[in-house]
Amino acid sequence: MKNILIVDDSKTITKRLEILIKSKLGYNPVIAHSKKECTEKLLKYKSKFAIALLDIGLPDAPNGEVIDLVTKFKIPSVVLTASTNLEDSFRNKDIVDYVIKDGDFVFSYIISLIKRIVANHNLKVLVVDDSKTFCGKIVDLLRRYRIDCFVANNGIEALDIIKKNKGIKLAFIDYYMPQMDGLELLREIRKEYPKDEFSTIIISGSSDRRTPAKFLKCGANDFLFKDFTEEEFYARLNSNLEVLELFEITKEKANKDYLTGLFNRRYLFEIGTEVYNRAKIKNNKLAVAIIDIDDFKKINDTYGHDIGDIAIKEVSRILKKTVNEDTITSRLGGEEFCLILKNRNKEEIEKLLNLIRLEFENNKIKISKKEKISYTVSIGYTVKFSENLESMLKFADEGLYKAKESGKNKVVYFED
Ligand code: GH3
Ligand code: MG
Ligand code: MG
Repeated sequence: MKNILIVDDSKTITKRLEILIKSKLGYNPVIAHSKKECTEKLLKYKSKFAIALLDIGLPDAPNGEVIDLVTKFKIPSVVLTASTNLEDSFRNKDIVDYVIKDGDFVFSYIISLIKRIVANHNLKVLVVDDSKTFCGKIVDLLRRYRIDCFVANNGIEALDIIKKNKGIKLAFIDYYMPQMDGLELLREIRKEYPKDEFSTIIISGSSDRRTPAKFLKCGANDFLFKDFTEEEFYARLNSNLEVLELFEITKEKANKDYLTGLFNRRYLFEIGTEVYNRAKIKNNKLAVAIIDIDDFKKINDTYGHDIGDIAIKEVSRILKKTVNEDTITSRLGGEEFCLILKNRNKEEIEKLLNLIRLEFENNKIKISKKEKISYTVSIGYTVKFSENLESMLKFADEGLYKAKESGKNKVVYFED
């Protein structure tokens, strides 16, 4: 479990934070009321803290001495302060943020900040700048958050790094660079990655106030002038990361079936149509299969709807372990599922589908201490290209119908 270090001499504040961190985040708050106690806790926990919240006015450390003590161990640290006028005196310290203790809302800010910092651990970010000094400055700021940094000194190097490291979701890009400038690089990135999947923050030393608009119109997510404050840097970084996350959550909700976690019907047609068109143009192989649980109604009628749901979820488990990553697996509705399989010939598909059929035949689902249930599936499929994806699905459905008609627990091929 993640340890969060809280150093503050006010017991009201530490108690409140302790409760919130436990209840809202499920992390382990570790409390110290003085610099002395802080030293003891660092020793006891071998400095293994995900974050430290540090009061800079402690009785035995009245001038923020605790900051140096804690940041020495590379613990991302947030300063808690009563003063509203603080930025300058802490500009050179290694802190990620400071919070002014002036009201109740500050507690919810701290909780969302902790969430943000934890989420940023191991995040991959690219920094592109021909100035090594400036790259170093940004990398230093990012590392305080435990962010994994990649550095490129020009646009070409940047594209190469992005291609090789799929985990990179955000880049800071300098405007003026030799060979390929920031604008060109941005255009290249946007050919492959949309704004909602890859965030770009442009940094420019230009004093021309028209520059930000130029970049934003070309698909940049955000813009920073080089004389930014650390606070602005982190605020922009975090707000861009939050937007990326929101997009991801929204897509997840829109594209996935709630019960099984498989893609839903809507997304099947969206992505499936793209895959179908690409395969048809390139003359690649494509297969569509529909899988339907046999006599599913009996399961519902005998054991109830909840057990029926478990049986449906089981389909997702078995499909996940039998098909490869390249296969689009979706729930069409009820107890009916669809697979779109790429680059395999009819024999290979037939073999795979029979393997899936046998997996179900041999599978037993434990529904109580004593009872297990099992069921079979029928599968219809086609490899024949027709007018569109819908017509391929109709062929597969025809195959399914024939499988049901001829006794179920079968794989049946159909083409017009
Ligand atoms: P066949 O072998 O011909 O496919 O018969 P079947 O009983 O499997 O198919 P039928 O279409 O007659 O019944 C499907 C049932 O699935 C009817 C519906 O109430 C139930 N069902 C649909 N969606 C869900 C769900 O999300 N959960 C549960 N538990 N049941 C569902
Ligand atoms: Mg430059
Ligand atoms: Mg059925």
